[in-house]
Amino acid sequence: MSAELNIDWTRCQGRGLCIELLTGVLDSDPWGYPLALDGRAAGHGRVHVVGDHLEAAREAVKMCPLSALSLQEEAGALEGRR
Ligand code: SF4
Repeated sequence: MSAELNIDWTRCQGRGLCIELLTGVLDSDPWGYPLALDGRAAGHGRVHVVGDHLEAAREAVKMCPLSALSLQEEAGALEGRR
C-alpha cells in the first residue's frame, strides 16, 4: 500500500515535527522546511510514502500544529485537524 503526503507550503512554518516522525522519508531544507529524500517526491510539495512509513505519515498529519499536511491513500484522504 502506498500514499501521497501533501505539504501545504502556505501553512508550513518549518518547525520540523514531521521530519522527526518521518525519518528516512523527509529531510529538512536549509531553513527547516520538509523535503522528500531519495527522489520520493511526486511533485512540488507531494511525497510518495510506502509500507512501514504509512503509520508515521498518518501520525504526522494528525500532529502537524499548522494542519499543513494531508495524506491521500487508496481508500481516501485523511485531512489534518482544522
Ligand atoms: S509538522 Fe507541519 S508545520 Fe511542522 S514542518 Fe511539518 S508540515 Fe511544516
